[in-house]
Amino acid sequence: MSLDEVHRYRLECPYCGSNELEVVEVLHEIPFFGKVILSSMRCSRCGYRKSDVANLEFKPPARYELKVEGPEDLNVRVVRSSTATIQIPELGIEVKPGPIAEGFISNVEGVLHRVKRIVEQLLRDSESPEEAERAREVLHKIERALQGEFPFTLIIDDPYGNSFIAPKPSQQPRS
Ligand SMILES: [Zn+2]
Repeated sequence: MSLDEVHRYRLECPYCGSNELEVVEVLHEIPFFGKVILSSMRCSRCGYRKSDVANLEFKPPARYELKVEGPEDLNVRVVRSSTATIQIPELGIEVKPGPIAEGFISNVEGVLHRVKRIVEQLLRDSESPEEAERAREVLHKIERALQGEFPFTLIIDDPYGNSFIAPKPSQQPRS
């Protein structure tokens, strides 16, 4: 992954109205996919933050499915834009797109850590022992998945084609 270009500017914060929202844009070249811009914004006045990924080229709607079968698959590169849905059927997980969804450039392990934080929040907010128990079961599976001991399917669906799962190293086309 090469980082070429950084833009930095300030905008008006949509939450507190101050001009303290700092935006940083970095161009990333993703092998087998293309150029994307990762933008991160943060307001130093109210703490509002958001990050997202946008593609520089027009891409058709895309759906990627990766079978994660062992520790080596945890390093596979993942690009998720706020326009994409993430699903892990084996964990009963669906992360929906939308204005509060975060975009990121990471790998399978990074996706698991993000999902883990969401489930930990569900556990804290659970309203019944059954809900808490279900969340704990999912967390246990995520822990095993982070060790490469729980095979699962990572599905990313993006109607705007901004997202991507790299092919596994063994399946990458030779140049
Ligand atoms: Zn603000």
